[in-house]
This record gives sequence, C-alpha cells and structure tokens, in this order.
Amino acid sequence: MNKKKLIIPKQIVTVNPEMEILRNHGVQIENGIIVKICDLKNFDYKKYSGDIYVLNNLTMLPGFIQTHVHLCQSLFRGLADDMQLLDWLQKRIFPYENNHDKNSLKLSAQLGINELIESGTTTILDMGTMNHQEVIFEEMIASGIRGFSGKCMIDENDLYPTFKETTEKSLSSTYELAKSYHDSDNGRIKYGFAPRFALSCSENLLKETLEFMKDFNGSLYHTHSSENGGEIAAVKRKYGKENIEYFDSINALSDRTVLAHCIHTNEKEVELLRETQTRVTHCPSSNLKLGSGIADIPNYLERGISVSLGADGAPCNNNLSIFTEMRLAALIQKPIHGPTAMDAQTMVKLATIEGAKALHLDDQVGSIEVGKKADLILLDIDQTNNSLLNDDANIYSDIVYSSTKNNVSEVMIDGKWVVKESRSSLYDPDELTSNGKKELAELLKRTGIN
Ligand SMILES: [Zn+2]
Repeated sequence: MNKKKLIIPKQIVTVNPEMEILRNHGVQIENGIIVKICDLKNFDYKKYSGDIYVLNNLTMLPGFIQTHVHLCQSLFRGLADDMQLLDWLQKRIFPYENNHDKNSLKLSAQLGINELIESGTTTILDMGTMNHQEVIFEEMIASGIRGFSGKCMIDENDLYPTFKETTEKSLSSTYELAKSYHDSDNGRIKYGFAPRFALSCSENLLKETLEFMKDFNGSLYHTHSSENGGEIAAVKRKYGKENIEYFDSINALSDRTVLAHCIHTNEKEVELLRETQTRVTHCPSSNLKLGSGIADIPNYLERGISVSLGADGAPCNNNLSIFTEMRLAALIQKPIHGPTAMDAQTMVKLATIEGAKALHLDDQVGSIEVGKKADLILLDIDQTNNSLLNDDANIYSDIVYSSTKNNVSEVMIDGKWVVKESRSSLYDPDELTSNGKKELAELLKRTGIN
C-alpha cells in the first residue's frame, strides 16, 4: 500500500534551484509523489487523513544518485585488490563474471542493492553483465530501487577470450532485454545500453547499439572511457585515435551517453565532451585504488560538462557508499586546485540533482520539490561524529566531510520505505552473508582461481 504520508523532519535540504534549507516544514506524499511541502505554522493536523511521521531529529535530503555501478560484481569484493585495470579485468573480474550462474548473480545484485540503499542511494545507472542479465533486472524490480541497467556487451576480448559472444548474439539478446525491461515497473526501470569499453567491442557492435537506442525513448548509452594509460594506448593501437575522439568519430557522444572515468583526456576531447553534452561519471575511489589517475573534474565543471558520481564496482572500491565518493571527490582535488575547489555544497549537488540531470531524470528525482517522486533519505547528523552546529552555514560540510553511511536512518523510494532505522527492510543481512558465502565458494570453484 502506498498510503498518503506527511513527513516532518528537523530540516529539509531541498537541493532545489535556490538550494533552500527548510525548517518547520513537512513533506506530503501521495501515490509516491511529493504533492506539497507545507509550512507547519498553521497546519491543521486534525484534518490530515494520511500517516504522519514526526522525525524531528532527522535531516531530509533527496535520495542519492550514482551514475556508474556494477551490481554483478558485489560478490567479488576483496578478491581483486592492489592491481591495475587491465590485470584486474584479465585475471579476476572477467573470469568471475564469466562464471556467474543465475544464483550467484542474484546474490551479487542483492548485496549491491542492499548496500546502496542502506547508504542512501535510491537511483543507479548499473553496468550489467554478459550472461543472465535478466536476473539483475528482476532484482531491481523486486527491490524497488530506481535506475537503469543493461547487458554488458562484449564481442572482442583479447584479455580473456572466453568472455565474449558473437556480435549478432550480443545485439539480438540486448534488443530482447531492452524490449522486456525498458520502462518497466511503472517506468522506474530503464535500459542503459552497455558496451563494456572500446577494447571489448567491435565498431559494428558500438554503432549498431546506437541505432537500437532510437527504438527505446529515454534509454542511455553507458560505457567506460579513458580510465587507464594502458587502455588508451591499446585503443590508439586498435582505432588510431584517443578514446573519446574515437567515440566522436562513430557519433557515440551525445547527451544520452554516460562515460565512466574520463581521466586521460586531451584538450580536444574535453571540448568534445562539452560540445556534445556527454555525461561524465567520476569514480574517485576506483580511480585511486586501481592507480588509474585523477580526472580533472574542476576543469570539467568550469566548462559546463555534466559530472556526477559513482562507486563503480565492489572489487575496485571496496564499498558502494556515496559518502566515500563525495568526500574523496572533494579531497583529491584540493592539493591540485587549492582548498576552495570542489566545495561541499557542490559535492551534494553532484550526488543528487546533477546525477538526475545526467540520466535525464531531473523532472522526477534529484531534489525535494512538488511534483517529483518521493525518493527521500533521512540522515541523523546529530551524532558524535557530526558538527555540533549543523546550521545552514555548515550543513553541507557535515554531510560531505563528517557523515558516513552510519548516519543514514530512513530511505524511501517512490513513497515506500526501503530502509527503516538504518536497516534495509528488503533483505536480511545474515541471510545475505551466509548465502553470499555459499554462492561465492561455488563460483570460485567454477572459476578455478584461488
Ligand atoms: Zn566500471
């Protein structure tokens, strides 16, 4: 039941165009939509017919949005540490993904979604995997999380040749999945076409996928680009161009394209990103852990390029909390650009409204405004690890620099609670861990890697 609700928090960090912070206000929700943000001064509680939640120790924010994750990799956390990208793919991630069966993939998606919602992320752009992709869609539907996913498309693979399929199979199965799942579950689930990266896709595959997108209004083109020095050198050998210049040459850059990373880019490529309004997902933890480099995000933002955040996969992070990404995205730029770069308010925007804009969902999510979906989180930022003030002047700093997933108390998607008192109402953590261990043991046996 999606009953009428009135939520009364201590304060509302709206992330609306005025960046208002409201106190003594309540948010009214009907059928999963924010229908009113009311001043409580003259509010007649007796006349209100829905459920009233008085949460006046909690701070309300729009749900966080991550524009690059890999649910299929959650099971592999801690199994591929201290490696560089191409080794990491070749020796671990491709073999593991290749050996997913439906059960291990389901557990992986459950682990990922559980961690994401418990740390306040309500919308994702997921890069799926090559086999059994329907399992990820079904789990996203069952969980209530909002977002895009797509079968990972690989028709060339010099790194790990067994993990690929024919161009025809990749294209036809992708098309079928998009037909089944794009705009499913009342439009909450959408298709993000997912050619893995330039090195694992033929030009034909990359181009045909662009053609497919025209049949699926609101879908996205989601891939990796310019992450690692070895990768861009190999792209240059393969296609004779820098990675983003190559994507431009096949008309793959547009406001419907989301490129994860974009670390190693030249001036011409940065200009291409700006001109085409291509979306950049910044994944600072992953970029540091794989030793890939630091993307020049302040430059991108100054040029008006769309930037949002993602945790990437569990084996290259190794957690999926947006709090880590916001904090790191700010901190890693300060030694380069000075302490005023990437301020805390900017980080909250990148994790909310800018993510929504990147996915073309900003008419639905990303801020707390009338008419938007009730994707809301409530943080307890009155804990001992928080600022003692948390007033307008330092509330963003308290969220970005001091808070962690442990500050997330309640989470709602489409007007339905999915986290209550810091615990996911979808999954039992003990079951996830014990079933996850069992599935992982079997997957490792299938893979043959110790
Ligand atoms: Zn990735």
